[in-house]
Amino acid sequence: MTRKEYADFLVPNVEHDREYYESKYPERNLESDAKVVRIGPSPTGFVHFGTLFQAMAGHNLAKNSSGIFYVRIEDTDQKREVENGTKQIIDALNDYGIEYNEGPISEEEEKGTYGPYIQSKRGDIYKAYVKDLIEKDLAYPSFATEKDLEELRSQQEASKSRLGYYGRFATDRNLSMETVIEKVKSGEKYVIRFRSPGNFENKIIIEDLVKGRIEMPENDIDHVILKGDGLPTYHFAHVIDDHLMHTTHVVRGDEWLSSLPVHLQMFSSLGFTAPFYAHPSPIMKEENGKKRKLSKRKDTEANIAEFKKLGIPKEAVKEYLLTLINSNFEEWKDKNPEKDLDEFKVTFKKMNISGSLFDMEKLINISKNILAHITAEEFYDQLLDWAENYDKEFTVLLKEHKKETIAILNIERGGEKPRKDYSAYSDVYKNIWYMYDEKFMVSKEEYEFDKITDPKEIKDILITYITKYYDEKDGQDVWFSKIKVMAEELGYASNMKEYKQNPDNFKGNVADISTVIRVAVTSKKQTPNLYDILKILGTKKIEERFQKVIK
Ligand code: GLU
Repeated sequence: MTRKEYADFLVPNVEHDREYYESKYPERNLESDAKVVRIGPSPTGFVHFGTLFQAMAGHNLAKNSSGIFYVRIEDTDQKREVENGTKQIIDALNDYGIEYNEGPISEEEEKGTYGPYIQSKRGDIYKAYVKDLIEKDLAYPSFATEKDLEELRSQQEASKSRLGYYGRFATDRNLSMETVIEKVKSGEKYVIRFRSPGNFENKIIIEDLVKGRIEMPENDIDHVILKGDGLPTYHFAHVIDDHLMHTTHVVRGDEWLSSLPVHLQMFSSLGFTAPFYAHPSPIMKEENGKKRKLSKRKDTEANIAEFKKLGIPKEAVKEYLLTLINSNFEEWKDKNPEKDLDEFKVTFKKMNISGSLFDMEKLINISKNILAHITAEEFYDQLLDWAENYDKEFTVLLKEHKKETIAILNIERGGEKPRKDYSAYSDVYKNIWYMYDEKFMVSKEEYEFDKITDPKEIKDILITYITKYYDEKDGQDVWFSKIKVMAEELGYASNMKEYKQNPDNFKGNVADISTVIRVAVTSKKQTPNLYDILKILGTKKIEERFQKVIK
């Protein structure tokens, strides 16, 4: 048997060879400094905040260098795969408007000429390269069973040796072709292992674009590259893919840094040029004064679907992500408040070496700021969109009272210093519910009367106001001067300075009067501009609300 026949025997039914794929996926026709960046998420559960981080960074790096940003689904571990996993990733990228040049657009369809972009559809490609390695004796079959590997482990533990299938422990390395053929013919199961040329005593130097020069021991473990189920392992698959898809830069979680020696060795054994690597530190969370990695299991904010549910606008999440990606982003944003986020140029130099803390308060502040600066109409549309998915009751109100809601959202909007009342869409209803008659008129909410609490006095103020002083045609200045006049009529100071000089001369002051009116129409002592609220309600509703409180 020639080595070629031997490779065919071990990995049968492979349609094409390595050369075929090398010419099928030629170099990309791009400028020399164009970056080809990808994300390689696995469809193993909800979309992690870190994936969005990598996507934002990758998209920005590619776009700002006229390069390519693409998505590759890494689903070779089919035991961990969840239903809809791929769809969730695609939906998340679409939700956040992170465009990719190539990749799956649904579970069946994709765009781009370097695909398939789903690893489970690339079986034949990986096998072609595995066969090539076997032919060159850079890979070999291994028959070690789970049990054999467990025994090896205990043996290594007992002798205090480093764990793994390497060197003298990698006994199947030395099986002759004849023995292998015999074992296979008798039905023994096998995997294909990489024949590592490394020596653990040697050091290699890695240049990480974020972490700089790192010294690590050379890899000497014979990792599995093709599993019993015919699928490759992640290590091997992504090396083949990054090569054939001509990735120039990899931005990924730093949990992969420790396997970089394995990956670089595979690139080299296969005769490929490795991409540049950037392993930014993970996003951290502070808990009981201690920093730890944001956890998929424990932290809801790790799941980007939570932001959607909370109703944090996607622009806020993206802006916040950029603050985490590059330490100079905030300064840029302050100088360029109007510019599109894509105009900021992400660099590796400004990526974080020590993990940044996830700061919900900061995200909320960005969100508040964004929600304060859009038009009331835009806000209404986004709010409705959100409510349709997460709050059916509010949706009904929003649809029935479109004009009114826009007017409410428009209170103290625009201008130099707009109000920042809303942190997220989910926050709106509890801020404005009292404006909807069908909610307010049946509400049992406590009235938050403040200084003036005597029912008779309250009744007096309200009746005087509605019968003598309120006119919905008044502009704000006239409106307020009328409240002042009324204050005087009822024995309250209309001028704060006078009041402060001689508080005993008055029952109270004009602010106390306004509070009574405010609380009567909203039940709250703190609200946005009272004039606007009254104007939106109109005389009839004001009267009804006064009646409600008087009763
Ligand atoms: N599939 C890997 C993950 O989900 C991607 C690692 C990489 O980007 O190389 O973590």
